[in-house]
Amino acid sequence: MKIHAFSVGRVSLPNRHVSARRRTLPGRYLDVWRDDSRLEPAPIYCFAIEHPEGVIVVDVGETTDVFEPRAVDLGARLLVDRSGLDLEPADELATQLERVGIDPEEVSTVVLTHLHFDHAGAVGAFPNADVLVSRREYLAHRLLPLGSSIHRWPDALRPTLLSYDDGPIGPFAASHRVTDAGDVIVVPTPGHTPGHQSVLVRTEDALLCLAGDVTFTESQLLDDDVVGIALDGRTSRRSAARVRRLLERERVVYLPAHDPGTNRRLEERIPTTIDESD
Ligand SMILES: [Zn+2]
Repeated sequence: MKIHAFSVGRVSLPNRHVSARRRTLPGRYLDVWRDDSRLEPAPIYCFAIEHPEGVIVVDVGETTDVFEPRAVDLGARLLVDRSGLDLEPADELATQLERVGIDPEEVSTVVLTHLHFDHAGAVGAFPNADVLVSRREYLAHRLLPLGSSIHRWPDALRPTLLSYDDGPIGPFAASHRVTDAGDVIVVPTPGHTPGHQSVLVRTEDALLCLAGDVTFTESQLLDDDVVGIALDGRTSRRSAARVRRLLERERVVYLPAHDPGTNRRLEERIPTTIDESD
């Protein structure tokens, strides 16, 4: 099983968008919108798993169409602009997959950690894939598409909505098995968005946690720091705490989407450990 990480463009986010100063809404969001700072450009990591049962992609990034004037509504436009999205055609996931010999049409499964545009906008590039989204996430964004590009998806796309029927795994009360082998598993990690989910991949040397935006970086996970833009800060902290419990149980390589260290940790299988001296 070969696993690739691809950074599909970059985001330059305001500091308070990434790291909250206040824990509760609406103060936390006011902080985010008032903050005109720009952090260093951060990657947007997506993953491709070349599994014996098929090619599984976790998150798909955006396409450059998002910059077209009528591509997104005003709310999404504000968020795209605020994110400082930097994306060239060569960055798009489909193009990068082709470069390593994976035809986007052969991708059998796409798992979306959540529906924010930088993770889920390019889903139309995988026409033969079964798209797995949390039921809660999908319904919430149908109702109020905050920061999602769901309205730009192909009309014919019918995602598979997950309710996690495959029982507990470690600190997670429920899960969804993606592979028959049981080595690729989706677990609910809500808070950043209503139905955010993460993907666990069991490999010979470690359990990989493809964490989407549970936190933006590894240090945020270890420091119990809330992502400023998280919709529900308390639930988000609870999800992060579950991931930390997972780290205590076994060797876990924690791979959040916006951490510059994610690719190296994946390549070298560097586990994330909790410093007992803290
Ligand atoms: Zn997000």
